Amino acid sequence: MTKSQSSLYDLKFDELQSALQGWGEAAFRAKQIWEWLYVRLADSYEAMTSLPKPLRDRLAAEYPLGRLTPKIDLLSSDGWTRKILFALPDQAQIETVLMEYDTRNTVCISTQAGCAMGCTFCATGQGGFQRNLASGEIVEQVLFFDRELRKANLQLPTANHQLTNVVLMGMGEPFANYHQLIGALHRLSDPIGYNFGARRITVSTVGLVPMIERFTEEHLQVNLAVSLHAATNDLRASMLPINKRYPLEVLIPACRAYASATHRRLSFEWALIENVNDTPEQAHALAQLAKGLLCHVNLIPLNPTHGYNGAASTRERIAAFRSILDAQHIPNSLRVRRGIDIHAGCGQLKQAQNADHSV
Ligand code: SAH
Ligand code: SF4
Repeated sequence: MTKSQSSLYDLKFDELQSALQGWGEAAFRAKQIWEWLYVRLADSYEAMTSLPKPLRDRLAAEYPLGRLTPKIDLLSSDGWTRKILFALPDQAQIETVLMEYDTRNTVCISTQAGCAMGCTFCATGQGGFQRNLASGEIVEQVLFFDRELRKANLQLPTANHQLTNVVLMGMGEPFANYHQLIGALHRLSDPIGYNFGARRITVSTVGLVPMIERFTEEHLQVNLAVSLHAATNDLRASMLPINKRYPLEVLIPACRAYASATHRRLSFEWALIENVNDTPEQAHALAQLAKGLLCHVNLIPLNPTHGYNGAASTRERIAAFRSILDAQHIPNSLRVRRGIDIHAGCGQLKQAQNADHSV
């Protein structure tokens, strides 16, 4: 199979309906197939036992069911984080991570193989861009881990193995693959299909302003996170090259417009890097930008990567940074780094695998 061949997960419901109609199939078949795909999470055409064999064969020939092949599958030493490096049919690779918490199970998915944005501290950015994912390839990552959770539920029914959150914070810039992203979001939250609450989905962007504006107009209930990381243009541009194109004086108004149009609280992501963006000056500048904006600042200590020389902030520096935000009443929280031993940061597993191969 080549990348250009659509998988069944790429189709919208009405596209499936018209394909089946074109084959002379009864109208109820589309609903039946949709249910196999998104309610029962069938992972093969053989499993779709209520479909006649000739229909299953034709579907298999024209629409391959899935495109993700697990290549590396790692569980963190504490058992709470699982990361898979998937190969796509054209050998592009993406990473997907499942993070289990006491009450939540969050899957972190990719929207592109690689990324063209070149953020200096990001392993994906350091590896460059391969290609956009099709909407089905985005959706399939969620279904894969949901299936795994359902299996775990059968084995240990007392534990909580429900998928509760989806974050688009894996490889790639979601807003640089806008059309496929929106298709995937609709498919995930489709009430007659997978029916995953949009409020439990979060899209993270590096700050592509025109797309933030467009996203505001979509009126989805999906959460938005903006990777801020610095509150002055010089520093931000040195870390996130996109800031030269969309500096803070256009980014922050777009965030304000999003919050006031949608009444949704947006998140600012901030990777704390020692002596770079964890200074009192940056904390004060951030408080200034965030004042009066319906937002929450997510602080996360930097995950070290091969191509970047910075270190994670110390506990003392993090506390000092947070105390400035607190004093200015800027809501903030510190996220724990997960699965460091399995390179669970964005793009890090692929980077580690390539490094292993080069020695
Ligand atoms: N491209 C999107 C989404 C994927 S990155 C974006 O940039 O928002 C998901 C988040 O991980 C972003 O906030 C990104 O800045 C952050 N990130 C990337 N590399 C990191 C690292 N080494 N340590 C901590 N956070 C990192
Ligand atoms: Fe791309 Fe996001 Fe990494 Fe920047 S942080 S290089 S936008 S994946």
